[in-house]
Amino acid sequence: MSKQTPVSDTIYGIDRWGKGLLCVLPSGDVGLCDPAHPEASPINLPDILQDLQQRGISSPLVLRVKSFLETRIKHLNQAFADAIARTNYQAPYRGVFPIKVNQQAQVVDQIVDYGRQFDFGLEAGSKPELVIALAHKLSRDALIVCNGVKDAEFIRLAILSRRLGYNTVIVLESLKEAEIVIEVARELGLPPLLGVRVKLTNLISGKWQSSSGDRSAFGMNTDQLMRVIDRLREEDLLHCLTLQHSHLGSQVPDVNDVRRAVTEACRYYTELKSEGVPLSHLDLGGGLGVDYTGEKRASENSINYTIDEYCANVVETVAYAMDEAGVDHPVLVTESGRAVSATSSMLIFDVLESTLYDAPDAPAVEPDDHHLVSDLAAVSGYLVPDRVRECWNDALFYRDELRALFRRGYVDLRQMARAERIYLGLMARIKEIVQNSEEDSDLEDELQKIADVYHCNFSLFQSLPDVWAIDQLHPIIPLQMLNTAPDRRAVLSDITCDSDGKIDQFILAHGVAPSLPVHSLPEDRPYYLGVFFVGAYQETLGDLHNLFGDTNVVTIDLRPDGGFDLLHEQEGDTIAQVLSYVEYDPSDCLAAFRKTVDEAISAGQIAPSERKTLIGAYRVSMNGYTYFE
Ligand SMILES: *Cc1c(COP(=O)(O)O)cnc(C)c1O
Repeated sequence: MSKQTPVSDTIYGIDRWGKGLLCVLPSGDVGLCDPAHPEASPINLPDILQDLQQRGISSPLVLRVKSFLETRIKHLNQAFADAIARTNYQAPYRGVFPIKVNQQAQVVDQIVDYGRQFDFGLEAGSKPELVIALAHKLSRDALIVCNGVKDAEFIRLAILSRRLGYNTVIVLESLKEAEIVIEVARELGLPPLLGVRVKLTNLISGKWQSSSGDRSAFGMNTDQLMRVIDRLREEDLLHCLTLQHSHLGSQVPDVNDVRRAVTEACRYYTELKSEGVPLSHLDLGGGLGVDYTGEKRASENSINYTIDEYCANVVETVAYAMDEAGVDHPVLVTESGRAVSATSSMLIFDVLESTLYDAPDAPAVEPDDHHLVSDLAAVSGYLVPDRVRECWNDALFYRDELRALFRRGYVDLRQMARAERIYLGLMARIKEIVQNSEEDSDLEDELQKIADVYHCNFSLFQSLPDVWAIDQLHPIIPLQMLNTAPDRRAVLSDITCDSDGKIDQFILAHGVAPSLPVHSLPEDRPYYLGVFFVGAYQETLGDLHNLFGDTNVVTIDLRPDGGFDLLHEQEGDTIAQVLSYVEYDPSDCLAAFRKTVDEAISAGQIAPSERKTLIGAYRVSMNGYTYFE
């Protein structure tokens, strides 16, 4: 491997998807770079993990990096500001962060604090999210945009919050909601700040296609829209309607879809203006994607544009449409969630053990072994690159025949074990030949069947729900030993007892592969894997399958001197906590266990002195982490 093309780039493509955030240090460890200070020395990630371990914070854990989050907020706002200046656009950008994308207090706090300089606001899609938004101090010009289904209580709080200076916009989703607003506004004697959600008919490509077009669950069609306008006019509330909203769905892969949707949104906007609606804000929702694979193409886990291109497209499209119609440029609002928070955190876990589907050596055949055992062993005699496919077929055939004989009682357990081991020895040599050969790449896919299984200390259902539910891809790499070529390939299995709890799609430098290049597990230290870009949607969508709870979460700030500051630590769930989520009372559980112990003592089954040990063990487990410790 030459110095110019390190393993990290040729195999994992780190330079492609992780540019500016990650690098590989000469030690082979992954380093975290501060995008705000590209000149500063990167910080050794395994060292951070060791430091955290010493403080009692073990993996699995979610690691959030403050400057990764701030960089994205700055980038988005700067890109809009640049496009606005370049286009001579006559109104500002006022972004909002949709709380549902990451509701964790640490994240929302940081977004609000850092975003204040850009008048960045919040989007609330439910009552609890509005309650969160109103617990924050926003800048005078920042918006709170309320989407989703709203009852009178939600609407009352939104209207009242305006008395405190919040620019809380109630986005009307239906005529029914408009009627509730009319009633609550009359009762309070206060004018609401209103928006309307329009349903665009353009279909957007990608995973979230169903959030766009005619059949999307949200927004009003032209007929419903006109009825709402007429009702507001009747009630003399039309002057409150200042924002038009639409949302295309998440992770829009193709920038031309954005352009078409924005054009359609502008048609509504200019038409509503000519109807006499005093609109001043055009909210284009979310959809700005993240390039998880780094391929920069319009596919499910990639996007064919950059943040700058997205912003330029939006600004230019709106400017053109408004100028055509002779309408003042609206304040631009977007609700970018994924693009703001996804890259700011990573999930880190250790590999507990591996199951290998090959073996370094093979035992000798014994004189009274079945002839199929010697046939199997003989395959190694003609195993050369040209005949690798034939050898693989033969080995499989003999092994399966022997298994059938074992089931019927013609081959004993020791002989079967010898045969399996001979087979595994052949597999090791076959793997080596296939991996070293340039051609015959169709065999590569089949190699998947004999890839190792690395058993990892995490729950897919708790920590990576989108990987399970919608085949989301995240970059995954080993965090150490990257100065040596990986010698194994593995699929990852989590610690739930669910066969779905596995990862078998990986982003590599040359595309998506069914197994991950990894190293043989070192014996003297942990082998960590990192799953990147997990800061959007993963945390609260996760569930308690097998009662694996929240992982530890740590927020750090990178220091220019190569160190880090621990800003916040949130301990993962204890077993007692997850038990209470499923309606057990931990103290009742302990009392029940204590009773069983006492009964065993009374019955003379155990010595009284064992009581302390048994109850102690139960108590320690109850208060411990749900993951492998
Ligand atoms: C989910 C959602 C968003 C966030 O979308 P991203 O693609 O994550 O930016 C924005 N607006 C609304 C109305 C949403 O429902």
